[in-house]
Amino acid sequence: MSESRHVVVVGAGVGGLATAVRMAARGHRVTVLESAPTVGGKLAEHLEDGHRFDRGPSLFTMPSLMVELDELVPPHVAGRPAPFRFDTMDRSTHYFWEDEVGPLIAWSDNDKFARDVEARWGVPAKQLQSHLRRAKEAFELTRGVFLERSLHERSTYLTRSAWRLLSRVGSLPLVGTLNRYNTKHLGHPKLRQLFNRYATYNGSDPHKAPAMLHVIPHLEHGIGTYLPHGGMRSIPLHLQALARSQGVTFRTDCGAAQILHDGIRVTGVLDVQGATHPADVVVSNVDLHPTYRNLLPDLPAPERILNQERSTSGVIFYWGVRGSHPQLHLHNILFSKDYETEFDSIQHTGSPGQDPTVYINITSKIIPDDAPTGHENWFVLTNVGANPRQWDDAAVAQLRQAVLAKVSRTLGFVPDIVCEQVLTPQIIESSTGSWMGALYGASSNSAQAAFLRHRNRSTQLRGLYFCGGSVHPGGGIPLCLLGARIVDELVNQ
Ligand SMILES: Cc1cc2nc3c(=O)[nH]c(=O)nc-3n(C[C@H](O)[C@H](O)[C@H](O)COP(=O)(O)OP(=O)(O)OC[C@H]3O[C@@H](n4cnc5c(N)ncnc54)[C@H](O)[C@@H]3O)c2cc1C
Repeated sequence: MSESRHVVVVGAGVGGLATAVRMAARGHRVTVLESAPTVGGKLAEHLEDGHRFDRGPSLFTMPSLMVELDELVPPHVAGRPAPFRFDTMDRSTHYFWEDEVGPLIAWSDNDKFARDVEARWGVPAKQLQSHLRRAKEAFELTRGVFLERSLHERSTYLTRSAWRLLSRVGSLPLVGTLNRYNTKHLGHPKLRQLFNRYATYNGSDPHKAPAMLHVIPHLEHGIGTYLPHGGMRSIPLHLQALARSQGVTFRTDCGAAQILHDGIRVTGVLDVQGATHPADVVVSNVDLHPTYRNLLPDLPAPERILNQERSTSGVIFYWGVRGSHPQLHLHNILFSKDYETEFDSIQHTGSPGQDPTVYINITSKIIPDDAPTGHENWFVLTNVGANPRQWDDAAVAQLRQAVLAKVSRTLGFVPDIVCEQVLTPQIIESSTGSWMGALYGASSNSAQAAFLRHRNRSTQLRGLYFCGGSVHPGGGIPLCLLGARIVDELVNQ
């Protein structure tokens, strides 16, 4: 174990929580400052009329990253929570199109999925299987460099993973967009649309995002989809319990006002109540913009990185819905007719227009207690531009109409809504600090995006580190958990 240090983690999103668990497991004294009343950041929840809704993420993959955190805390530690538990799904998504009869089910069994695709559209099963195999190979080849280590440390390029990647780099699609790659390998326009959608997993546009994003489907089709017991909200609660069992102090309702330093190294954090928390190490889990603009006002900010295009945001309706709808499952997608026009509209107007792609997540399909008997809890998301000022009541009402019309055209009914709440980019920004309400920090709409993400260790101040969705390796729960691992290694090198 390295020497014990004072660590202050600013922000209790999933990245900050995982960092706190890891730092405490190393024997450091850790305090987490969180401006909200509870931990979790975007992984929030709300309850309404007997319905429980996860407010943010709904798709959970790479559960081994949670198991890894569990394993850092010995079983005999007092107060250690029971191991993190989750169910394995037999399918990822039910995909719907207006002019197709019934859903295409993306089974976890890839052979079954490929056979269904062949039966429906005549695309040979082997073609889809090869597509998924290439995604797996590219994922395995790149993960050791792009996901599991800092891209900004020389040591990364001296690893075995880096040499292996270098020796096989010619096998990777380094030019062209994801859309072009999927067009070449999948042929059928609806299958292409299905695989183009994976660009939205980091808030990007498949018509601009690099072909390397073809690795993302491997997360679902190779590693699998899961649902935590108790829903997504149990992820931050479990991490907080793990951290507490190791003596981490949580100060909620207690945001950081400034990260203190002497020009060479960090010295602590000033909280909004005026108290100073001395620190040898400060890890900011707050979006990079407020970190530089508010918490480090006297430090030169990396303007090029801060000015990168944001990832998309979302408008989410949380509907308690009367009745049960057997054609729907945990994850459902109702595709627009013209994906390119939809992304164009998001880019230029901020709105998906009159024919949005609609994602519906219903956890009560798997966790019956999430809705009263005879009801379902619908989380209904459409991607929109990251712009907190756009979504006033009138704009939300217009989008709601378009979403209801889409559901009606595709599924043949209008949901019987008994209660409703809405999340907009403005609320995402004000409740989590995410600049412009972006879901995943900067977009990956260019081949350089991975290299332009902010590093995990400051070059300006010793003892200053960054984790979470706005820095390397990027947004989404698995990447934030991997970011915490990278920070832990950098701090304890
Ligand atoms: C609607 C939605 C759907 C999504 N869907 C998925 C999905 O299906 N799967 C997936 O993997 N990911 C999904 N994501 C993305 C995922 O939620 C994020 O990438 C991830 O949760 C970000 O975690 P983070 O560690 O960056 O912290 P955040 O969740 O951004 O939390 C940052 C924390 O910092 C706190 N904070 C801010 N300022 C201060 C301050 N000055 N002092 C102290 N604390 C402060 C905030 O209150 C917040 O708690 C979704 C996000 C949203 C919003």
